[in-house]
Formats: sequence, C-alpha cells, structure tokens
Amino acid sequence: MNLPNTIAAAACCIGLVPALLAAQHPHLSAETKQYVVVDTPVVVLRHVRVIDGTGAAPRDDQTIVVSHGLITATGNAATTQVPAGAQILDLPGRTVMPGLVMLHEHMFYPTGGVLILNEGGYSFPKLYLAGGATTIRTAGSMEPYTDLNLKAMIDTGAVPGPRIDVTGPYIEGPGMDLYQVHPLSSPADATDMVRYWAEHGATSFKLYMHVTRAEMGAAIAEAHRHNLKITGHLCSVTFREAAALGIDNLEHGIVVASDFVRDKQPDVCPKDGAVASSIAAIDIAGDSVSALIRDLVSKHVAMTSTLGVFETFAAHRPPIIPGALAAMTPEARVQYLEGRSQIGDDTSSLGTTLLHKEMQFERAYAAAGGLLLSGSDPTGFGGVVPGYSNEREIELLVEAGFTATEAIRISSLNGAQYLGRADHIGSIAAGKAADLLVVRGDPSTRIRDIEKAEMVFKDGVGYDSERLFRAARGVVGLH
Ligand SMILES: [Zn+2]
Repeated sequence: MNLPNTIAAAACCIGLVPALLAAQHPHLSAETKQYVVVDTPVVVLRHVRVIDGTGAAPRDDQTIVVSHGLITATGNAATTQVPAGAQILDLPGRTVMPGLVMLHEHMFYPTGGVLILNEGGYSFPKLYLAGGATTIRTAGSMEPYTDLNLKAMIDTGAVPGPRIDVTGPYIEGPGMDLYQVHPLSSPADATDMVRYWAEHGATSFKLYMHVTRAEMGAAIAEAHRHNLKITGHLCSVTFREAAALGIDNLEHGIVVASDFVRDKQPDVCPKDGAVASSIAAIDIAGDSVSALIRDLVSKHVAMTSTLGVFETFAAHRPPIIPGALAAMTPEARVQYLEGRSQIGDDTSSLGTTLLHKEMQFERAYAAAGGLLLSGSDPTGFGGVVPGYSNEREIELLVEAGFTATEAIRISSLNGAQYLGRADHIGSIAAGKAADLLVVRGDPSTRIRDIEKAEMVFKDGVGYDSERLFRAARGVVGLH
C-alpha cells in the first residue's frame, strides 16, 4: 500500500493525485454505466451530515470534496472551499458514511439442499455495492475461480461491485459433506492448497470445522509465508488452540467456540448441538469467558460478528427487510419462509439465547480491546441477502449495545485495519479513497435509516443504490 502513503505524505502536492490515480481509474463498461449517476473527476457533496467511520460524533452541515477518486477535503460547508468546475451535489437531510468494509460476504447462497451452494456471481456484487459495501472479504469460497474472475472484472470496470478480498476455498477436513469442498488428507495437503490458491490470486484463507491442529498449523504457516491472513469458522480446534497456532481472525464469535464442551476430544468437532448447548449454559461475564477473551486479545486475534445469520434462527424478530424478500427467487422465498415458520415463538429457545449471548460477547470483546469486525454471512436457510444484510448487521450491532457510530466503525475502519488498508479505505478523511455511502435520514439517531441507501461511491464514482438493488430483484438463489 505505498500509493496512499505517498499521497498522505504529499498532501500538499495535489497535482500528484490525478497522475497517480489515472492508472487506477477503470474504464467503465456500458453494463456498469447503467448504474452510475456520478462520474465526473471533481465532485462535491455539500450540506451533508458526516459519520466518518472513526467512531467520532456525527458532524452536521459538512462538505466533502472528491477529486479523481480520492477525498481531498472535508469540513464545515460554510468554510470548505469548493474547487472551480466541480460538480456540486447539495444533499441536505442525507448522512454520508465511509463505504462499508465487510468481512464475511460469500458469493454463494443456500438453495435448498445442504450439499451444493449456488454461486450468486451476477446478483451478489451488485447487492453488496447497493447496500454500501465497497470492500468485502468473501470468507470462504465455493467457486474460487469465479470469485477471482469476478474480482478482476470489477477492478477493470466491466461489472459493478465492491473491491473483493478473495478468500480461497474452504480448508476443511473430512466431515462436512459438501460436494464443493475438498476434504484434506494431511497437513501437507493443507500447505499445498494454500500455496496453490495464493499463487492464483487468493488474498486470504479460511479454516473450517473439521481440520486438525496439525493441518491448521500448516495452513497458517503457509498463508503467513505469503503475507496473507487466515481466519476460521472452527469446531474441531478450540479458539484457544487456534490462537496459540497463530490464527488471525475467528468467525461468528463465541457461539461456535468448542472451548467449553466438556470432554472435548482433540481435533474432533463435538457431536451436533454440543457446542451450542455449552455456550447456552455459560456466563459470558464469567471468569472462563473473560480469560478466553484476554488470551485472544493478547494474541491480536480479530473477531468477526455475523449477527444477521444468527438472527434468522431466533424467535420474535422483526420481519425481514422487504427488499431482501423481493430479491429472492420464488423458490428461495418459499425456502426462507418455511424455514422461518419452523423457528417458533419461544424466546427461551436455543437460537434466541445464542443470539443474545453472542451480542453480549461482542460487546465484551470490543471492551477488552479486541478488534471486532463485521460481516453478514449469507447462509443459514437463505434469510440473509447480501446488501440488505450489511445494513441489517449494523442495526444488530446497535441492538447489541454499540452506538451507531461505533457500529459503523466496526463495519468500516475496523475492517480496513484488519485488511492492512486503513491508510486508504475505511473512513472519511482527506487522502483516502472516495468510498462513500449516502443515506437519507440520520442513522445516528434512527439506525433503521441505514436502510435508505441513495448513492454509493467507490473510488469517486457514484452508483445509484436503488438501481443496483432493482437489478437483483427476484434472482437471489438463481445467479
Ligand atoms: Zn460463512
């Protein structure tokens, strides 16, 4: 990431910026241009409320100046100079946030059977961008070549979508029974897999529920040899063991930690339900969880919140965002509604208990100094639809007890920090990429306003959120 450092260091030398950026600015295809509403070199967003992504209090009546893909100035509307010739967008009543950096955003979707997951390569990139996500990590791939090709197409402007940190295929032992997943045979196999996909463009990796400690150690060492990070949705290996082996990130939080299962056998995922019932029985504020948190934080293990997918298993929740339901194919809609109808009404059900325990855990993790990240994980039984899911995740972080500005920071700057890109993305500041989410209303006082996305800027190009959402109507589950 030398480029943004150069720009930050040479903030005086604005003349540098267009020259450096010219090579980056993609040529937008006719397909991509259908969704673009602002594509001028210099654009000014004026009279907006700014939530800058750092956790700072919102600032009213601000101006943001964007030039050649970068934010070049922000400040009070009354005093911030507007460059001559700029396109001026007066946007009173709108709030501008950094483009979201969301770290558990698969490109696949469950379509009924549990054994094959359907790639959403057409609709998902549009949906993520529509919901404000300008950078995503896929956190496990079913079709890594598709994801890599999509990333390249987005980067060249051929199709609209967020920047993608492509995670390689799941690194998983035998036991998952997914047709698309390669079952590891040995630690050497894990090393080979990581090496192959790192050499073919994957920029992160994810361990899964049935790996052994030896395979995990091998995969971590190989990922780190390539200077890449590796996360895990674990079961066979405990959080504490994974942290000792050097894992960078854990997905989903405490609800999947097998650390508290009595008689846990090494390298074996406990039988169905054992992890969940162990977590349901534990006191999140108690000594054993606090000690685990301290251990993970001391080893700089980041934690990814995916409250949206757990919400689909809990009782007495608000109805799904209407647009998300409309985005599904009729078959996917039936699948989701049937699944939802089986959840029942019991607020003491396991799904409900786990959602609340997880919320409490995430607050404790952040309070202990842990890096909490945000993601949506469009899995479960299909109730998590990209884009809408990113908005919902932020609402759920607020329900968990974070302020709106904290929830937005977790979903922007924290993700950028984890990716090592905080010098270029993740907050609204001069010198950073002009990745901006513009919503009507004020999410700092009414979090559901986060659903009113109007425009999303990526590298200074403004996309019409509604047009992108509309393009994916009725196709989630198909392509
Ligand atoms: Zn996932």
